[in-house]
Amino acid sequence: MFFKKIVMNIRDLTIEEIKTELNAMSEQSYRAVQLFDWLHSKMILSLDETTNIGNSLKKKLVEKFDISFPSIYKEYISNIDETRKYLILLNDGNIIESVLMKYKYGYSLCISSQVGCNMGCSFCASTIGGLKRNLEIYELLSQVYLVSRHNNIRISHIVIMGSGEPFNNFDNLVKFLDIINDEKGQNISLRNVTISTCGIVDKIFKLADLEKPLTLALSLHAPNDVIRKELMPIANKYSIAEVLDAMAHYFEKTNRRITFEYSLIKDVNDGVSNANDLVNLFKESFKNRHIDFNVNLIPVNVVKENDFERPDMSSVNLFKDILENNHISVTVRRELGKDISGSCGQLRASVK
Ligand code: SAH
Repeated sequence: MFFKKIVMNIRDLTIEEIKTELNAMSEQSYRAVQLFDWLHSKMILSLDETTNIGNSLKKKLVEKFDISFPSIYKEYISNIDETRKYLILLNDGNIIESVLMKYKYGYSLCISSQVGCNMGCSFCASTIGGLKRNLEIYELLSQVYLVSRHNNIRISHIVIMGSGEPFNNFDNLVKFLDIINDEKGQNISLRNVTISTCGIVDKIFKLADLEKPLTLALSLHAPNDVIRKELMPIANKYSIAEVLDAMAHYFEKTNRRITFEYSLIKDVNDGVSNANDLVNLFKESFKNRHIDFNVNLIPVNVVKENDFERPDMSSVNLFKDILENNHISVTVRRELGKDISGSCGQLRASVK
């Protein structure tokens, strides 16, 4: 019988774990710092790019670890704004999407957390083909490293809002955050990282316990459970009351302002009564609690497989005004990369 040996990718290791591995190979600890620097600061694609790692150590590493890395399969450049979408080819032939956005403060990359998604939100393209698998730590990292290298830029912000439900890939997500935040690697501040979840309540509590200064965004999309259940199957598992309580707990534990994403869909959740219900929902849910939060309105982006329509700007502005008049902080998300299907809910998985 043959068993396929599962080999770990070398980039899945933290600096401490590399030290332990090197010690077991009778190599000195300072080599771990050098190696981590090549892998995570210089973002090498192959050990051939190193200049201070000897051949005998390279040989040992190749025997023990998978060194391979995903690659950029295709780049789409928007003609409307400076957004760029990347198809990233994974070693097993699956393709995921990442989107680079340019802001005044720097570059932000929207990354995928899974190949596909099985959350089934009715307005989102990422879930149409179902879930194929979780992304490994090095595959999460590869999106940042490949796009940085390709454009010769430093990515300062990450939004985990591409395909997938990040909390269903929790352990890899946390280790990815540790490595991307490491000052010997990309040193990206966790304050500049936003995780968006459809609302997996136990994982919100679990993340809060880690007390990392991340921004947490909840895909709310409805002012009550009836509408939320029509849009998001996860609403059958957790009520809005439970999810809002978990989000409030996240704020109280981390003191990080929380975000509620609300995709505005014409004639589904964008009316004046929906806006008033949303105001009351927050008032009720957060009474006696001082919760700092922002509502991010996202006029729904068109996905060809469903019939949802974008509301016109006057309804969006009216909805915004109602929240603001009730002292709720609101932003309207810009639609970036429209011509390259790079906007929220338009990213997909595919296979080469
Ligand atoms: N699984 C995570 C990340 C999803 S994508 C989550 O559910 O939060 C990031 C945001 O885009 C989510 O708020 C998601 O609900 C929203 N979204 C999905 N499809 C969309 C669409 N067609 N138009 C606008 N926003 C969409």
